[in-house]
Amino acid sequence: MTTTDLLQKLGFEKSEISGGTLSVRSPIDGAEIARVAETHVAEMPSVIRQSQSAFAEWRQLPAPRRGELVRLLGEELRAAKDDLGALVTLEAGKIVSEGLGEVQEMIDICDFAVGLSRQLYGLTIASERPGHRMMETWQPMGPCAVISAFNFPVAVWSWNTALALVCGDPVIWKPSEKTPLTAMACMKIAERALERFGDAPEGLMQLVIGGADIGEALVASKDVPIVSATGSTRMGRIVGPKVAERFGRSILELGGNNAMIVAPSADLDMAVRAIVFSAVGTAGQRCTSLRRLIVHHSIREELVSRLTRAYASLPIGDPRQSRTLIGPLVDQASRDRMMAALEQAKAEGGTVHGGRPFEDGVPRGGAYVAPALVDMPGQTAVVREETFAPILYVMGYDTIEEAIAIQNGVPQGLSSCIFTLNMREAELFLSAVGSDCGIANVNIGPSGAEIGGAFGGEKETGGGRESGSDAWKGYMRRQTNTLNYSAELPLAQGVKFDV
Ligand code: NAD
Repeated sequence: MTTTDLLQKLGFEKSEISGGTLSVRSPIDGAEIARVAETHVAEMPSVIRQSQSAFAEWRQLPAPRRGELVRLLGEELRAAKDDLGALVTLEAGKIVSEGLGEVQEMIDICDFAVGLSRQLYGLTIASERPGHRMMETWQPMGPCAVISAFNFPVAVWSWNTALALVCGDPVIWKPSEKTPLTAMACMKIAERALERFGDAPEGLMQLVIGGADIGEALVASKDVPIVSATGSTRMGRIVGPKVAERFGRSILELGGNNAMIVAPSADLDMAVRAIVFSAVGTAGQRCTSLRRLIVHHSIREELVSRLTRAYASLPIGDPRQSRTLIGPLVDQASRDRMMAALEQAKAEGGTVHGGRPFEDGVPRGGAYVAPALVDMPGQTAVVREETFAPILYVMGYDTIEEAIAIQNGVPQGLSSCIFTLNMREAELFLSAVGSDCGIANVNIGPSGAEIGGAFGGEKETGGGRESGSDAWKGYMRRQTNTLNYSAELPLAQGVKFDV
């Protein structure tokens, strides 16, 4: 299908994709696929006002009714899955099955949120006073800004939106300036759900398009109580303090530097498959991509040689072709950063395998690379940084305690895993003295999370949690209620105050 046919099928008008100030390029060949209009900073106060007035209505609808909208959104996403997935491939450069997988994740979180809309449980708490009852209720918070990154151009919006909507909060979405088309397509899908729903307020789900200045308008506004920001730690360092300054709530999902420990007892066949998928899948552009391999000295040589062989046969190319496993990096600047990191790794004593620009049989104009395996003498400065590209640094260890110390010895704390058949090692890794990350897995790679668990990480990853488990609490305010059904007015802690 041509780009024009795809955009037409997704409901784009010609006027929406031409004549604007923001140029949208496909990572596949660097060609411009659209020029879209940007939101002006001056328009932001009215966008926020609209969201506030939507909130005034939406919060009054019973949560299960709000869930009905999310159910319809899930239905519309199912119907649009192939086309939206294809647009993710075109605009973000993901291979077809990963583009489709991202849309599936949107459908899954809608299903989760529909069930949640009949829960949103609060506790009932034993009161120390006779004739009293205590409980917690969860109330809607207000507009939720979603600032998202290019590498999950649609799923991150849905993680936030599906939960925010059932929690009673309107959403204002600022997608990455690199991926506005997928965002516009999502809004068209959402509009179909809103139409079928019937009585949702205007401005319940809004989209603003542009760069950091548009994001900053959301970050600065006290009328936007929740700011969910996904992207680099650099961005989070700016956004976090600004939201805190006005006592807003931020949900920060920032950079990762994810590791796998491979112990002597590991099932190496499984480990190799997990390593390759998590290090080179999405061309190393997942926040959970595997970037550090911490291998026991006794198996290091064997594992590196098996990985080098596996890397040599990986199909790199046009992500629309069914046999491709590694598509392009998002742009040339990203490839330049990868090459610079590899130079630095060499200067720090590393031996680089692969990691060159790749030009054989791939579309011209795209930033294709052969993934890199880098044997490192230790956890040097470059290893401690997140380079958003398929670079896997390999380091050795002697004891499990040393391996855990290396795993934890970076500023980021998103995802981690261990391959071992030794129960003591596995449990140690998951214990209080084990991995310090938000995600810690055993015999499974660090990437490819399911929506049922809370997703996010510690330290410079920002501490936010999205998606499953009780992440919904991030979108509501907790209220503690004490009800007195007695005819007395006893004070807590036995305090006497007779008047
Ligand atoms: P980025 O930080 O360049 O941009 C992310 C978003 O933040 C964009 O929408 C951008 O316009 C906006 N932004 C930038 N500066 C801003 C500011 N001052 N105020 C408000 N908004 C601002 O990130 P990217 O290159 O698009 O994405 C890659 C990064 O995202 C990687 O570091 C990756 O690890 C991280 N990421 C993290 C998660 C997670 O869940 N932890 C998920 C996906 C991506």
